[in-house]
Amino acid sequence: MAAAKPTVARPLVDPFARAITYLRVSVTDRCDFRCVYCMSEDMHFLPKKDLLSLEELDRLCAAFVARGVRKIRITGGEPLVRRDIMTLFRSLSQHLDSGAMDEVTVTTNGSQLTRFARDLYACGVRRINVSLDTLDAAKFRAVTRWGDFDKVIAGIDAAQAAGLAVKINAVALQGFNDDEFEDLIRWSHGRGMDLTFIEVMPLGEIEGQRADQYIPLSQVRARLERSFTLAPIDYSSGGPARYVRIAETGGRLGFITPLTHNFCESCNRVRVTCTGTLYMCLGQEDAADLRAPLRAAPTDEPLHAAIDAAIARKPKGHDFVIDRASSRPAVARHMSLTGG
Ligand code: SAM
Ligand code: SF4
Repeated sequence: MAAAKPTVARPLVDPFARAITYLRVSVTDRCDFRCVYCMSEDMHFLPKKDLLSLEELDRLCAAFVARGVRKIRITGGEPLVRRDIMTLFRSLSQHLDSGAMDEVTVTTNGSQLTRFARDLYACGVRRINVSLDTLDAAKFRAVTRWGDFDKVIAGIDAAQAAGLAVKINAVALQGFNDDEFEDLIRWSHGRGMDLTFIEVMPLGEIEGQRADQYIPLSQVRARLERSFTLAPIDYSSGGPARYVRIAETGGRLGFITPLTHNFCESCNRVRVTCTGTLYMCLGQEDAADLRAPLRAAPTDEPLHAAIDAAIARKPKGHDFVIDRASSRPAVARHMSLTGG
């Protein structure tokens, strides 16, 4: 019999009556890739002294769990390049064992999975997201600038062998992978993996024009309907993706459409960066510093007060636009800081 969920004394509920039960934690802004839509080639990273230690990140996560967060996604930058990151996963697994939390998961570029897949499983992780935009090794190198396709595929193999369910995330990029959508579906589903397409979002300055990269997923979907039968399903992985089942493959396909379909009304999440900055919305600048209250006292009361004040300001939604008239990013920070 499943253990009863512990009662949460002060659950986090925002002004629009949305309960905050999902925390995304970016544990580093650094990465071993330089994906063209995510980073510029000469990124400047945060000085190490600004980062929360793994112990502080753990304390921060525990404070959110105490307030009713049931799911934590570890992301980045590339989370698996942070030194000793498995100690954080090990510590978070205690909340899974106690029943205080349902899930710890990770979004990764896959480059370190041959090393860490088994450890992740041992820490209670059961599902992971791996970002892979193309099945062509040369194109993979071009889009990630520094990535090694074979290493990522070996990482996905290792993850599946370790018992982790893998979901592939692919950013839909005009003129880059728009000829591969059908292949990505057949390949992912053929390996028993879900696949999600993501619309490129205007986050951070990059080289080149985002309008050149952007394809609305409504267009992608209309095109896929010529080759496949797409049946909408009720499935939710707890995030913003809307899913269909592809009759021909039997697999699930998700669409994350921040631009063509705003998903804010059901938003249950907030994001914290590796410096302890809490973003109440991926698409807005407003943020709250949790590092100072975290360090102010050995007790968590200042931290809880700061979390309460922040959640009380969670906005109704974002207002991303990508068009040629608005060539500036909607939000100046890169996705690698806030986490995907
Ligand atoms: N490094 C890890 C990875 O690539 O999976 C985790 C962090 S990455 C920022 C998380 C996700 O955000 C990836 O799937 C990536 O493709 C996506 N991403 C990055 N920049 C984006 C952008 N501007 N628009 C849409 N998705 C983006
Ligand atoms: Fe790194 Fe992920 Fe950004 Fe690519 S998308 S540069 S792998 S953080």
